[in-house]
Amino acid sequence: EPRGTIVGTVFVMATFLAAAVVPDPHAAWEQRQLLIAIAALIVSTVILSGALVESDRAHRRRSTLDPLTGLFNRNALEQRLAELNGQPCDPAAGISHAFLLCDLDHFKRVNDQFGHAAGDAVLQDVAYTMRAALRAGDSIYRVGGEEILVILPGAGHEDALEIAERLRVAVRERRPVGVPVSLSIGAAVAEPERVDCDDLLARADAALYAAKAGGRHRAEHAG
Ligand code: GH3
Ligand code: MG
Ligand code: MG
Repeated sequence: EPRGTIVGTVFVMATFLAAAVVPDPHAAWEQRQLLIAIAALIVSTVILSGALVESDRAHRRRSTLDPLTGLFNRNALEQRLAELNGQPCDPAAGISHAFLLCDLDHFKRVNDQFGHAAGDAVLQDVAYTMRAALRAGDSIYRVGGEEILVILPGAGHEDALEIAERLRVAVRERRPVGVPVSLSIGAAVAEPERVDCDDLLARADAALYAAKAGGRHRAEHAG
């Protein structure tokens, strides 16, 4: 944090001056060019390392967040799936995970009718609305253009459908930037005894397909 950097720099400078000047100010004055050079070196080290830290932060943000919506991106999803895969799972005992694969309905029409910029604004607003409707531990990823995956730790069938319903209604009621949009959702819950992410994704995808085929603006549950 900048405050820490400032406090640290002041401390190093004060220590340096106390050691270099206080014992013999006259000698220090004679050597002032050297002291100034050392002080400049300290300051430039702080500036340089601050810039490096900031660039590292920006890089990490870019590598895990989708710049348009601020949701986690595919990169972050890969990491999360690797963590989840193979974890113990027993829905009957309340140890479970559910995936909700969500896709905006007829989004191409939104772009065609209102323009690409409005489409982008709709995506941002939908992302915000969905995030706001989720619980603290849930995570949400933009996996494609207008396709969003929600991971619900601890959720069984009922929770998954309840949250899917909440998302569907929230997006419908929100009318992002005045445009009526709807969401189709495919829900899948991990089978005992180990989480299999490929299976979860495949079943959520099939359920999403069923939701689209069933008329859109609905949530379907994978069998
Ligand atoms: P369906 O109900 O079957 O999902 O229909 P759809 O039109 O939503 O599906 P389709 O996959 O045919 O079209 C997706 C559209 O989403 C096409 C593309 O122009 C739009 N899209 C994808 N990414 C973005 C984006 O970042 N910004 C905008 N504005 N549009 C996007
Ligand atoms: Mg779509
Ligand atoms: Mg799509």
